[in-house]
Order: sequence, then C-alpha cells, then structure tokens
Amino acid sequence: MIRTAGVLFFTACTMFFGQSGTQETNRPFLSRSEAHLEFRSLSPGEVIKASIESPFAVKRAEIRFEKRTYAMGRGKESDPLFALVGLDLGLEPGDYPMIFTVVYAGGQYERIEKEIRVLSKDFPVKKLWVDERYVSPPKEVLQRIREESAILRSVYGIFTPRWQGEGAFVQPTKGRVVPNFGERRIFNNKPRNPHSGVDISSPPGTAVIASNSGKVVLASDLYFAGKTVIIDHGLGVFTIYCHFSKFRAGRGEFVHKGQIIGEVGATGRVTGPHLHWAVKIQGTRVDPFSVMDLDFKP
Ligand SMILES: [Zn+2]
Repeated sequence: MIRTAGVLFFTACTMFFGQSGTQETNRPFLSRSEAHLEFRSLSPGEVIKASIESPFAVKRAEIRFEKRTYAMGRGKESDPLFALVGLDLGLEPGDYPMIFTVVYAGGQYERIEKEIRVLSKDFPVKKLWVDERYVSPPKEVLQRIREESAILRSVYGIFTPRWQGEGAFVQPTKGRVVPNFGERRIFNNKPRNPHSGVDISSPPGTAVIASNSGKVVLASDLYFAGKTVIIDHGLGVFTIYCHFSKFRAGRGEFVHKGQIIGEVGATGRVTGPHLHWAVKIQGTRVDPFSVMDLDFKP
C-alpha cells in the first residue's frame, strides 16, 4: 500500500499501523513522521536544520542531499533527530531533492522527499595585498602545505554521531564583524579560493571563545590559516577559528560553549589582526551567521 501526501511518500508496510498485531488496512493513517526544515534563506552558503518528528520509535534516520549522506542524531534521547545540511558556497541555483529515510525500531522504513529551491547569490570580488609568500608559496614550504591539507582532510572526515552542542551557537569574539563571507578573492592580482568564513576585527590578545560545545580536533599552526583551532560539534559540524596569537585550548580537549580557546592575532595569511571564523558541515562551506541564527533547545 502506497500513499502520497504532497511531497511525502509513504512506503511502510500496512502491519505497521495495525494495533496489537491486528490488521486494519481500511483505517486511515493516524500519524506518521514529519520532516521540518529551518533556515534563514535558501541560497549558497546557508545552513538548513532538518529534523524528524515521529510518534513511533525511530531506530535511525538519514538525509541524502547533493551526493552527501547526513546521518541524523541528537544530544539527548528526548530530543528529535536532526541534521544540519549545508548549502555549499559554490552550489548552483536550482531545485534539489532532499531525501529522508527513517528506519523504525521494527525494521520498517519511511521515505520523505522535500524539494529545495536554491536561489542565486552574487558574492562581491575583493582585491587584497599580502606577503607574496602566501600567494605563491616558496618551494621549501610546499611539502608542509601538502601535509597540512592531508591533516585537514582527515579532521573533517571525523564523524561523531551524537550532537555535542549546548543551545544556540554564539559569536566567538567581540569586535567589528566584516560581512565578507563568500567574497571572491584576488590576492596580489591572482584569483584564489573564495572567502569561506567571516572576519571579526579585534585588537590582538582579545579572548576568543568556543561558539558551542564540542571537542577540539585540531590546535595547530598552519601555513595559511596561522594558529588554528577546530571544534567538532558532532554530526559532521565543525567550527574553525584562525590567526590566533595564542592557543588557550589543546587538541583532544572537550570545551564548553563560552570557554576561552585562544587569543586574536595575525598569524598566517592576513592583512592585520582579526579572527577568521568559519563553519564546515560534511565538507560544505557555510556562513557562520546562518548557523548562529538556528534555534537549539538549551
Ligand atoms: Zn578570513
């Protein structure tokens, strides 16, 4: 028996809706799982908080979106299952299916499909002037750069199935926020990767706090990003903090939201002291302020 309602397709077996094993196939469905989407806007660089509300015991659930699988999870057993899905900075406008698979305790499953209409967004072009060694790195640092990108790949490959965050994300330092997420950057007249975070200008030494709770999975001095801390919040969500003058947290440490993790500095490829703050979700690059806008139960 297959029923459809709007964009929702139902394929679970009929027995599932019988009560105490009785088959009541002519009876309408009492209820079923629902997928909820929360977002600031649907354009490249934005995040969607997708959750499942179900009257039944759900064993696991996942989302397929743009060739990526997002296993859904939660912090507390009583919370609904959710995942943060990134609309990557480079995503082309258009309609994309988002497919939920919900597996129930009894082994039955349900498939829910939503259509996501991604709008187009123009990011400005910005010309910047930095020390030439950060644009065309000298031969002797190429090996270091290769090793660091391998380390970053393995860090972003970590998947913690339980949500580590506590409530909503917060801005990690005081200061002037430069709304430069997504800028297409030209360093010393050479085009380079777009700016995948936001910059917050603050005097050197200003405290930087964890935007949310999680485990420090990297605290290293990187060639381009300078002294960098990466926090794993679970479910493939990472916050990244760059150009520190000083570390105040180390790799492997669990940090709580609001805890000081470093101090603003000017290490790596910079034009002056500031915090570069970024968010990565399963490899997608999203604006940290779109993540900060999401509601989370404390
Ligand atoms: Zn930056």
